[in-house]
Amino acid sequence: MKTILPWQKAEWSYLASRRAQGKLSHALLLTGLEGLGQSDFAHAFAASLLCQNPNDIACGSCSSCQLLAAGNHPDLLVVNPEAKDKLIKVDQIREVISELGKTSQQGGYQVVIIEPADAMNIAAANALLKTLEEPAQKVQIILISSKAAFLSATIRSRCQQLVFKSPTNMLAKEWLSSKLALHNEQADPDLLLSLAGGAPLKALQFATADASSERSAFANAFFAFANGKLSAINFAEECQNYPLSFVLGILLSFIADMLKLQVSLASPIVNIDLRDNLQHLAAKLPLANILEFSDKVVQLVAINSKKININKQTALEALWIELGRVQKSN
Ligand SMILES: [Zn+2]
Repeated sequence: MKTILPWQKAEWSYLASRRAQGKLSHALLLTGLEGLGQSDFAHAFAASLLCQNPNDIACGSCSSCQLLAAGNHPDLLVVNPEAKDKLIKVDQIREVISELGKTSQQGGYQVVIIEPADAMNIAAANALLKTLEEPAQKVQIILISSKAAFLSATIRSRCQQLVFKSPTNMLAKEWLSSKLALHNEQADPDLLLSLAGGAPLKALQFATADASSERSAFANAFFAFANGKLSAINFAEECQNYPLSFVLGILLSFIADMLKLQVSLASPIVNIDLRDNLQHLAAKLPLANILEFSDKVVQLVAINSKKININKQTALEALWIELGRVQKSN
């Protein structure tokens, strides 16, 4: 069963008190930085609504809790994209709406969790809107999105928004260190938290997934290219191993760090393990050239976020040639 994370206590007590007063909004929108555990929170809250003997949190032993633990509670409807980086389709929402039209099978709440809500295509979002406008009794809808700005204003206005805040560095490090120990991971919690922007679950993902070694491999190739040891074409070929969003995400963090290093060599940066390399490159690139390159990266991020099919090899070759050009034009 999902538990409430140590930094989510305020959000939990707030919802519990709204519920006790009978003022719980029928639709909640959980936002905030990705990796703060909004999904765990949503599932824990759903469990407490579905539980037959809740005492603030779900009891864990009633028949409803047992159905949840087995992963087949008929009154919990979870909607995710069918594959990573895909959109949530209107049929998926229609299916949920049709389930909500029936009475709950266990006689209590029906809970819908849609994650990430910003992945709903326009037709899906419009289909959901009707349900949000005419809420049925004992139906709780929970939308999760770290990109709430991508949701339509009409959807957002129908939901009560709960913005999750990052934990203090001390709390995040304490939690992460205990998880790393549990997984027998030797990774440095400070570096992981820095890369994850302070979001503990994302930091843990970096440590346990291949993300950490992929990042190192990408960084090696990047600095080999920047130092003239790898051609733009070969570097773009090397990048075929990674999703474009991954490459662009790391690249933006390198650019942000170089801009900070331009201001002061003592600036706190995200990629603390690559400080020497980034400092060396930042010293070779005037501010205007970094910004010029950054514009090109941001343009590609925008195109990629529209899920348009782009030729990755061509797009990245052009980007690396541009980086080579701004380096030489110095
Ligand atoms: Zn229970």
